[in-house]
Amino acid sequence: MDSMDWRSEGASMFRAVSWTLRGLHCSSIPSSARMFSESTDKSRSLADKVAVIAGSTKGIGFAIARRLAQNGAHVVICSRKQHNVDQAVATLQREGLSVTGTVCHVGKAEDREQLVATALEHSKGIDFLVCVAGVNPLVGSTLGSSEQVWDKILGVNVKAPALLLSQLLPHMENRGGGSVVLVSSVAAYVPIPKLGIYNTSKTALLGLCKSLAVELAPKGIRVNSIVPGIIKTDFVQMEKTLPYSLSDLKKFYGLQRFGEPEDCAGIVSFLCSSDASYITGENITVAGYSPNL
Ligand code: NAP
Repeated sequence: MDSMDWRSEGASMFRAVSWTLRGLHCSSIPSSARMFSESTDKSRSLADKVAVIAGSTKGIGFAIARRLAQNGAHVVICSRKQHNVDQAVATLQREGLSVTGTVCHVGKAEDREQLVATALEHSKGIDFLVCVAGVNPLVGSTLGSSEQVWDKILGVNVKAPALLLSQLLPHMENRGGGSVVLVSSVAAYVPIPKLGIYNTSKTALLGLCKSLAVELAPKGIRVNSIVPGIIKTDFVQMEKTLPYSLSDLKKFYGLQRFGEPEDCAGIVSFLCSSDASYITGENITVAGYSPNL
C-alpha cells in the first residue's frame, strides 16, 4: 500500500493540529448501536411519515431503517433475498417498530413497483426515499471490463435510485413534499485503485443529487446524499467486493477510525426531518476525520 500512501508532509502537519483541536469531538471509541437507540427513543421527529429504504436488510441500510423507525416513521425495507427481508422485518418488529418489507432488486422495474405498492399498503403517500443498495462485482481494470459489468454497476448504483424515485414521485407529491437521501462513498472523491467503475458510479451519484435537487425543489422535495467513509459491514469485508484489507483502506484514506453503520443513521434521520427543511443538493461526508478527504 506504500504507493497509495500519498499524504504530503503539509497534510500530516495539518492533521496533527486538527487532531489536537478536534480530539474531544472525534473519539477513537466507536459509537455503539445501543448509544444511538437510547438517545433517539425519545425523539419522534418523523411521526406519521412513511420511509422507503432500498437495500436495507443489512449494514448501513438496516441501521438507517432502524433509526428512522425509532424516530417515528413507518419504514418499508427491502433487498433481493426473501430470508434477509423476513429476518430484518422480524428483528425490527420485535423492537416494537413499525416496519414492513418486500423483496426488491432495485435494478428490476417490476420489483420497484412491488416496493412502491408495499409502501402504499400502509398509507396513501410516501415521504422519504433512502437509496442505499449498491454493488461492486468487479475488482480490476476499468478499461478492461465488459459492457455487462458497466451496465450492472451503473444500473444498480446510479440508474436504479433515479428510476425508483420516478416511480415514487407521484406519491411524494401527494404529500406536498419529501426528502430523498442517496448513498455515495468517499471513493467518489478519492478513487480506490482497481474499483474504477464503482468509484465512477459513486461520483455520478454526487451529480445526480445536485441535478435532482434542482429539478425537485419546486415540488418541495429535497435531495441530499451522504458520503460514507469505511463502514464496518459485510460489503467491505468480502474479497470479491474489495481487494484490500480494512487496515489498508484505513491507511489509504488516513481515517481516524472505521465507521459503524449507525454512524450513517442519525444524519439521514436529520436530513429527512423538518430541521433540514432548508438543506438540499448537499453531499455530506460521514467519515470521521481524514486529511485525505
Ligand atoms: P451490506 O452490509 O452488504 O448491505 C447491503 C444491503 O443491500 C443488503 O441488505 C443487501 O441485501 C442489499 N442489496 C444489495 N444489492 C441490492 C439490490 N440490487 N437491490 C436491493 N437490495 C440490495 O453493504 P453496506 O456496506 O451497508 O453498503 C450499502 C451501501 O453503502 C452501498 O451502496 C455501498 O456502496 C455504500 N457504501 C458502503 C461503504 C462501506 O464502507 N461499507 C462506504 C461507502 C459507501 P440482499 O443481499 O438481500 O440484496
